[in-house]
Amino acid sequence: MKAWSERVRREGARIGFVPTMGYFHEGHLALMRRAKELADKVVVSIFVNPIQFGPKEDFKTYPRDLERDARMAEEVGVDVLFSPPVEEMYPPSFQTFVEVTELSKPLCGAKRPGHFRGVATVVLKLFNIVSPQLAVFGLKDYQQYLVIKQMVRDLNLDVEIVGHPIVREEDGLAMSSRNTYLSPAERQSARCLYQALCLAQKRIKEGVQDVPVLKEELERFILAHPFTKIDYVEFCDPETLAPVARVEQETLLALAVFVGRARLIDNTILKP
Ligand code: AMP
Repeated sequence: MKAWSERVRREGARIGFVPTMGYFHEGHLALMRRAKELADKVVVSIFVNPIQFGPKEDFKTYPRDLERDARMAEEVGVDVLFSPPVEEMYPPSFQTFVEVTELSKPLCGAKRPGHFRGVATVVLKLFNIVSPQLAVFGLKDYQQYLVIKQMVRDLNLDVEIVGHPIVREEDGLAMSSRNTYLSPAERQSARCLYQALCLAQKRIKEGVQDVPVLKEELERFILAHPFTKIDYVEFCDPETLAPVARVEQETLLALAVFVGRARLIDNTILKP
C-alpha cells in the first residue's frame, strides 16, 4: 500500500481516501463517489477495528463480505481496496494510542469508553499507510468527524477532511451496516430515529426552545415504538459538543437508540 501511494504521489496525483469497516451500502458508495470527484485516485480501506469495540460489543458479529464489497467498490471506480489483517495492524507488541481528549468525552464517548481512542489510533495509522491528501467521512458519525478533524489539527497532519451528508433509506432511516441486524418488525420501529429528528425540528419551528421539554417529548416518542431502548438523546454545540439548555442557535441533536440488539445513531443540525 505504501509503495503504491508513494508512486502515485510522485506522479503528481492526489489521493482521496475513504476509511470504512466494510459491508457497503449506498452511504459508503456516496463517500467513494465524492472522493473520486475531489481526487485523482481513490483508496478505500476495509478494517473492522477491534480496538474501537467494547468487550460486550459486536466486533465478532459485525457483518463482513469482502467479495461483495470488492465488486461494489470496483463498480464505483475505486482504485485500491485496502484490507489489512488485524495481526498486521496490531502485532502483540503494539502499545501506542492516540487520544483526542475533550471531543471524545460526551455522547458516544461516554457510552462507549475507549471507542474514539480506537478510532483516532486506527485512522492515524491508516493515514500514515495510505498517505492521502484528502479523506471523506460521513456526518452520520458526526462526533467521529469532529474527533478526526481535531486530531488532524493537533498533530499537524496534511490531510484535508471532508464531511459528507447522511445518506438515508426512502423512509428516512440512516443507512448503516448494522441495519442488517434488524428483524422486519424492528426495521419498522427503527424509523423513529429519523422521525424524532424531524419532530424536534418541527417543535423548534413552532417556537419550543427549552431542551428538557424537547428531550422529554423525543424520548416519549421514541419509547412508544417497540424494541427501542434509548442510549442518549443530546442537544449540543455543533463545534465543541458542549451541552446546550436552549436551542437559540444552530444545535446538534444526536441520538443513539438500541432497536433490538442494533445500536443505531443519527443526528441533525437544528436551525431555530
Ligand atoms: P463504517 O463502515 O460504518 O465505519 O462507515 C465508514 C464511513 O462511512 C464513515 O465515515 C461513516 O460516517 C460513513 N457512513 C456510514 N453510513 C453513512 C450514511 N448513512 N451516510 C453517510 N455516511 C455514512
